[in-house]
Amino acid sequence: MSSSRAVTLIAGDGVGPEVAESARKIIDATGVKIDWHEHEAGAEVFKKGDATGVPKETIESIEKTRVVLKGPLATPVGFGEKSANVTLRKLFETYANIRPVREMPGVPTPYSGRGIDLVVVRENVEDLYAGIEHMETPDVAQTLKLISRKGCEKIVKLAYALAEAENRTNVACATKANIMKMTEGMLKRTFEEIAPEHPEIDSWHVIVDNCAHQLVKRPEQFEMIITTNMNGDILSDLTSALVGGLGFAPSANLGTDVAIFEAVHGSAPKYAGQDTINPTAMILSAVLMLRHIGELEAASTVENAVMATLAQGIRTRDVMGDEGSVGTTAYTEAIIGNLGNKVDEWQAREVKQVKMPVPRKEAAFIIPESVELIGVDVFFQTEEEPEVVGLAAQAIAEGTKLELKMVECRGTQVWPKTSAELDPTDVMRARFITRGSVITSEDILSLLGNFGGRFNWVHVEKLRMFDGEPSFSRAQGEK
Ligand code: NAP
Repeated sequence: MSSSRAVTLIAGDGVGPEVAESARKIIDATGVKIDWHEHEAGAEVFKKGDATGVPKETIESIEKTRVVLKGPLATPVGFGEKSANVTLRKLFETYANIRPVREMPGVPTPYSGRGIDLVVVRENVEDLYAGIEHMETPDVAQTLKLISRKGCEKIVKLAYALAEAENRTNVACATKANIMKMTEGMLKRTFEEIAPEHPEIDSWHVIVDNCAHQLVKRPEQFEMIITTNMNGDILSDLTSALVGGLGFAPSANLGTDVAIFEAVHGSAPKYAGQDTINPTAMILSAVLMLRHIGELEAASTVENAVMATLAQGIRTRDVMGDEGSVGTTAYTEAIIGNLGNKVDEWQAREVKQVKMPVPRKEAAFIIPESVELIGVDVFFQTEEEPEVVGLAAQAIAEGTKLELKMVECRGTQVWPKTSAELDPTDVMRARFITRGSVITSEDILSLLGNFGGRFNWVHVEKLRMFDGEPSFSRAQGEK
């Protein structure tokens, strides 16, 4: 490459500046011409009063460069502002989070010698991470798990494009579709529709809890795992531990137009500024970045130099403990000294640049021929006994086109009474369905009007049939 490639560099919080500096130094030492545009995000930005954690200048830089190398950003846990990481991923629709792990020379683990080499492909912008939360009452919190057909199609297509670019021939899809048949089931169904377009790849589905079990028991059976956002977050921390821990786990956040490369780990504040942190995850994230921008040779040179360094026994404190370990700076220098070296234990994977799939433009992919409104679920606040609630809800429906079918609490039917033992919360849901006639939104509004002073309703979901199929699940115990 003759001219420089512009890349936005965000050093990040905690150990971020140390690992970012290590990766930058090594890339610069390869001779690849990168024009680093340094910008900030994260804790310091929050402190300045910017509630997004990502300032305008950073966003404008990414809009120009389209490629980001990013250190970890600290997020307050359980309170305060939203994650600046999630904000970045969402702003630039980096819908796929690619997390490869591979056994490395010189990094002993209980799995050494078993040839672990797999990649978790995690959906990155939907699911519980849409962050749409409400307190239904001060005692009951709710979050929306949003999964779209579009999101599933994008992640599955990208996963196959990556499998092809990396010559992977075995692709598993891990979901919890046995319980969440609509949301998690959407990924499973989309995967099963697209998989036959890749007959050369062995495609299979695994329930995510068994996937975790299998990963600990026989991880070498996996080459690629496609999964939803939350599952992927957890599984990929697990997979990083299989090859030596978070210090060795890189990642790429890929979107159609923007790619953000970062270590899987966080800001590890207790190690900040000590020159002891392992920068490998960040360096290998930079390797993924080099491949993404077409610097395939430099990518392999850096990867080989890291492996040569580890094989020589030059390792940081997370692997060695205090005795015999080197600091972040010395480790970085050793890698630079090894640029051009290879070791027999490591064959850099033959990879092509990933051909990013072009997502379909339309928002809706499936247009049903018939949509029929048949009822409504009304969630409301109450501390009364189910029997009393049932009778009151029946009375609310009197004189309307709807009748009460059941009342549930936390997903289990409580009226009509089932044998379930109830430990109630103060939110219940009444399901009303049509008495037989065609109903409209107006009929639902008049039913809600009857709730009036009796119960405080907190949210409502319409019950519809799409091409004769229910668009809602049944409560536990509901017939
Ligand atoms: P963390 O920063 O990843 O640290 C957890 C533990 O992992 C560390 O205590 C350390 O384990 C180990 N570790 C992490 N990075 C390492 C490295 N480079 N080399 C060796 N060991 C490493 O996770 P956290 O403590 O849960 O989160 C801290 C902050 O980071 C939070 O604010 C969180 O929101 C944020 N975070 C950011 C990102 C991101 O920017 N993408 C990702 C995750 C978390 P030992 O204690 O065993 O040494």
